[in-house]
Amino acid sequence: MPHSDRDIIIVGTGPAGLGAAFHLTEQAPSLSVLMIDREKICSGGLLNDCKQNYTYPIGFVVENWTKEEAERLLPEVERHLKPVFKEKKNLEIYRRRAERIGVTLLDVRQAHVGTDRSRTLIRRLLAELERRGVRFMMETEVTDVFEDARGPGVVISGAETVRAGKVIVAPGRKGFGFLQRVMERMGIDYIDNVVDVGIRIETTVDNYPIVKDYYDPKFIFPDGVRTFCTNSGHARVVLERYQGFSLVNGDALSEDRAGKNLVNFALLKTIGLKDPVRSGQQMGVFLGRLANEIGGGRPLMQRVGDFRMGKRSNAETFNEDLYSFPPSCPVTAGDLGLAVPARIMRHIWAAMKKLDTIIPGILHPSTIMYYPEIKMYANKPSFLDRHFRVSGNVYMVGDGAGTSRGITGAWASGIRAAEGILGGGQECESLFSGG
Ligand SMILES: Cc1cc2nc3c(=O)[nH]c(=O)nc-3n(C[C@H](O)[C@H](O)[C@H](O)COP(=O)(O)OP(=O)(O)OC[C@H]3O[C@@H](n4cnc5c(N)ncnc54)[C@H](O)[C@@H]3O)c2cc1C
Repeated sequence: MPHSDRDIIIVGTGPAGLGAAFHLTEQAPSLSVLMIDREKICSGGLLNDCKQNYTYPIGFVVENWTKEEAERLLPEVERHLKPVFKEKKNLEIYRRRAERIGVTLLDVRQAHVGTDRSRTLIRRLLAELERRGVRFMMETEVTDVFEDARGPGVVISGAETVRAGKVIVAPGRKGFGFLQRVMERMGIDYIDNVVDVGIRIETTVDNYPIVKDYYDPKFIFPDGVRTFCTNSGHARVVLERYQGFSLVNGDALSEDRAGKNLVNFALLKTIGLKDPVRSGQQMGVFLGRLANEIGGGRPLMQRVGDFRMGKRSNAETFNEDLYSFPPSCPVTAGDLGLAVPARIMRHIWAAMKKLDTIIPGILHPSTIMYYPEIKMYANKPSFLDRHFRVSGNVYMVGDGAGTSRGITGAWASGIRAAEGILGGGQECESLFSGG
């Protein structure tokens, strides 16, 4: 390990950064590790809701992960996050109904913490790392990452330079643009040609009762559409703010908090831009901005009843007189048909009809469709090895680097980078174009 300010710098304290930090400090306690984050506390899914999925391929990006590789590392993730697994009921019945119409229902080992409890989990994890000697710089933005003849380092707030023997960059989905700028400056090849575009559905638990049997049911429909991130109990739709526009998402509090009998989940369609290859991020930003433009600066919501009649929703459609529940995230009542590209809407609507056949109720006129829910996490750096190394001593992992799509996959990605730094792990070079 070259001598420098410290042995390892990890940018980002999300699950990818934490996965790396725990592995490094466990396997090599003498290493000095510095973690830097621009927020006061870890952000992303660890803080919001914190559903944990422990079944491949949920949360993993299959180009980068084999089932064996994920299953090798998931027990280590489990050991640190200490999930309490949820029971599932009547799975075979739902599964048979789904299979009959060409839909797959995945059986996923799941745990759920809840937004009200996640801080306790995060505090426990950070305290454990502090006990192991990890240093934290919170509310500190890394503005650049570099590697020169003296080794790698990071620039803090555009001014101070901190060097290390190795740098792991794990800035998450919101760090997507930052990562692209770093890759362009460092001359690291990448593509970002995939984006998930979809809507978030909100309805009553009575209209989607499967959530009483299976907390976050994972249905895979034709045309690349899937259910994603189901929340029930004390659940609500939330806004994710980006520069100049907002996207929708969802979360829930822990189970012992009284609910409002509402459930929300996303239906996402994966878009791969191939010929010519274009930026999925750019497409996501354009679609997000368009929807917010039509919504007067906010996302859109529309009742299924209005959508089926081919008319926009308006404030009147959302009165208590006509419909059974108010929206948990009142955005602009409007017409999704104006904002969602036609083919995406067609495939999502087809999925909704299939879902309504499996669990009758989802197409109730009161069901609300929110748009846009967009996942821009598809940076694909050209990795030099199976440990997500992108240059001599710099690694990029997590959702921002396209190695994961969820908490457990991100944590496991961090472990893989740490294994690379420690020179261990199993070899599987053929997975990577560059390695
Ligand atoms: C609202 C919401 C709910 C979610 N719910 C779930 C869920 O229930 N289950 C699930 O599996 N997944 C969920 N996800 C997805 C999940 O958050 C991600 O898959 C996971 O957190 C990715 O981990 P990561 O470490 O790659 O990135 P993140 O968790 O996003 O962490 C990245 C960290 O890097 C920091 N950072 C970024 N740029 C910089 C910079 N330039 N300088 C310094 N620090 C920087 C950020 O502040 C952040 O703390 C949710 C996401 C959101 C937004």
